[in-house]
Amino acid sequence: MPRHHVRIEIKNEWCKGCYICVDMCPKGVLEVDKSIFIRGFHPVKVARPEDCIACRLCELWCPDLAIAVCEEAEEEAV
Ligand code: SF4
Ligand code: SF4
Repeated sequence: MPRHHVRIEIKNEWCKGCYICVDMCPKGVLEVDKSIFIRGFHPVKVARPEDCIACRLCELWCPDLAIAVCEEAEEEAV
């Protein structure tokens, strides 16, 4: 079975810190990044990318289109 690699991109400059994505993720992949403070809030970080099931709920629910979930098939060596 081909393995899929999921890449989650978060655009900090579009994020407004509502944390809907953190609440919606069924796998706890996303976390508030308390180590950074931008424009008056902590942005979101991808804390556990390996747990992502590519359900895209975070992407669908983000009101500011700040999250993109990219699924990439890993190329098999031929
Ligand atoms: S849902 Fe979007 S705007 Fe809200 S915290 Fe997540 S990335 Fe930021
Ligand atoms: S795609 Fe689904 S599992 Fe992956 S980070 Fe977004 S909500 Fe969580």
